[in-house]
Amino acid sequence: MKVIRSPRQMSEVSLRLAQQGKLIGLVPTMGALHEGHLSLIRGAASQNDAVIVTVFVNPLQFGPREDFARYPRNLARDNRLSRAAGADIVFAPSARALYPSGFQTRVDVGRLSERWEGRSRPGHFRGVATVVTILFQVTRPTNAYFGQKDYQQALIVRRLVRDLQLPLKVHVLPTAREPDGLAMSSRNAYLTGAQREQAALLYRALRAARARIHAGERRPRRILSQMRRLIRQAQDARIDYAAIVDARTLEPQPRLHGRVAILLAVWIGRIRLIDNLLVDVS
Ligand code: AMP
Repeated sequence: MKVIRSPRQMSEVSLRLAQQGKLIGLVPTMGALHEGHLSLIRGAASQNDAVIVTVFVNPLQFGPREDFARYPRNLARDNRLSRAAGADIVFAPSARALYPSGFQTRVDVGRLSERWEGRSRPGHFRGVATVVTILFQVTRPTNAYFGQKDYQQALIVRRLVRDLQLPLKVHVLPTAREPDGLAMSSRNAYLTGAQREQAALLYRALRAARARIHAGERRPRRILSQMRRLIRQAQDARIDYAAIVDARTLEPQPRLHGRVAILLAVWIGRIRLIDNLLVDVS
């Protein structure tokens, strides 16, 4: 497995692969790899000739009061895990190399980025869309893999690929979870023991909401108030948002129908966790 730091070298290597007719699978990450990332890498390895994992903690997608500086970084470990999961190349550029002096372009996906995560984290999706567009240019993927855990992000990337007519396919793979249901996340490591136990309430609340829908409830407000009640049981939990929305547009529905996404963002102490479930309302 090769580790590449320079965007120019990455671009040359991916051009060569593309010219040889190889299918290139891309898995963009911020490192601190866990089983969720590894399932994406394995998925990519099963469908492509060459798998590129990018490890880049993207300053553009962090707000000024967010955890950019202390985000966990361990490239040697990420390289080892990527390789074991089937990666052929780890592309780990520096911020300076990806955003050289004078850099000023931003990619802004419209309405889809305004609500939910976009509202709580202004500028976040502009940063995501910008870096993903650059990574697509440099790595020339046939297929790119994202996690359902960051559902709004996955929809935004899909939209951007369509709107800019980028020649690649976006795949969204299921959320990898801990045995108690907590969605795996690099940020889980920040939780204290007691907070870690409380964090399992997110998935429990999502499952309870899904069960209510399956039992025939179509009024989102009823379901949401039950979710809020459940989460309030946790001492350190504060809900940022809980919503049940159209799974394609992320707009709320007065009465649930079609495919919906149950979205949840909760602060546990000073750690913000997100999770979601998709439900087909019959
Ligand atoms: P991140 O390193 O957090 O930027 O995540 C990189 C990619 O891994 C994104 O597409 C995430 O949606 C995906 N991802 C993160 N956590 C999980 C998880 N628990 N299960 C599946 N995919 C995940």
